[in-house]
Amino acid sequence: MSLAPYASHPEQTRGRKYPEKPAPTRSDFQRDRDRIVHSTAFRRLVYKTQVFLNHEGDLFRTRLTHSLEVAQLGRSIARSLGLNEDLVETVALAHDLGHTPFGHAGQDALNACMAGHGGFEHNLQSLRVVDELEERYPAYNGLNLTFETREGILKHCSRTHAEELEAREPNGVGYRFLHGHQPSLEAQLCNLADEIAYNAHDIDDGVRSGLLTMEQLEAVPLFTRYRDETLAEFPCLKGRRLLFDTIRRMLSQQVYDVIDATQTLVQAHRPQTADEARLCPPLIRFSQPMREASTELKRFLFKALYRHPQVNDVTARAKQVITDLFAAYVTQPGEMPADFTERPDRHRAVADYIAGMTDRFALREHERLTGLKLF
Ligand code: MG
Repeated sequence: MSLAPYASHPEQTRGRKYPEKPAPTRSDFQRDRDRIVHSTAFRRLVYKTQVFLNHEGDLFRTRLTHSLEVAQLGRSIARSLGLNEDLVETVALAHDLGHTPFGHAGQDALNACMAGHGGFEHNLQSLRVVDELEERYPAYNGLNLTFETREGILKHCSRTHAEELEAREPNGVGYRFLHGHQPSLEAQLCNLADEIAYNAHDIDDGVRSGLLTMEQLEAVPLFTRYRDETLAEFPCLKGRRLLFDTIRRMLSQQVYDVIDATQTLVQAHRPQTADEARLCPPLIRFSQPMREASTELKRFLFKALYRHPQVNDVTARAKQVITDLFAAYVTQPGEMPADFTERPDRHRAVADYIAGMTDRFALREHERLTGLKLF
């Protein structure tokens, strides 16, 4: 399908920091995607927690399978809207590269350790990974990705950090946070595909883990609507197949809803280029009823799953691992590999080193440095 005028057209890219000759067979966004897939940080996503720790079970989502699901949902919506599928896929595969081990517990703990040293934000860290931390090219640090990919990766950013980015890179990826503009429609789509993906897979993983029950899910109208639809068609269906068919219907309806709501908004605002779309209000949206239903589901998952006593217990131990590791490396930087030891900003070097760890490597290091076995 051809691209809509408001899509990101690769031939109009704002380009890369270090100019490169075009590739003979791939667009710039395809090339970005390939660089991400071949990066070290991407391979680490296999062993990083989404909600459940990597060693708790083989079938739970990890950061990697989550990112693949975001890419799948994003691409399918992009195709219907005439947006650039390659850019959506690229941003989806890169969006969680900066996540610490142990999911949000790890990020919160690292942010607390870095208070007074610039803090730690996982979106900004994803950008650091592709801009600075990957070491794959002879002439520069990072992956030298296009502006559009980097813009999509930086989903959120505090004002302070946006000002720092803007000072280093005028009119760059920090600019929109200072001026209230939107990112490309492809980037907006990735944010929403992220939400659709985790709402659905966290129900699945929650039930699989035994922490959520089908009875509890009765409280969620978005879930019961599609469960009832399934039961109307297959009255005897039970257990996992009932759960899967309900989630499948829920996903499809959310996808159709985004497509419809976005088409209406695009008709109303009529952006003629990708840059005009950046000046519009957010155009990739749910309809109002679906927005409310999705927010309600999120609230339910927060209370019933993310704050489940068993998850809280794991969270507390995970935070201790990160906090202990941070203290150990700050006082004994020689315990880190030489390229981290030698960096002048010790706290940032320690944060970068810890953020890059997989769950299991962090646990091994923690045991080695403290003698404690917390899991
Ligand atoms: Mg995500």
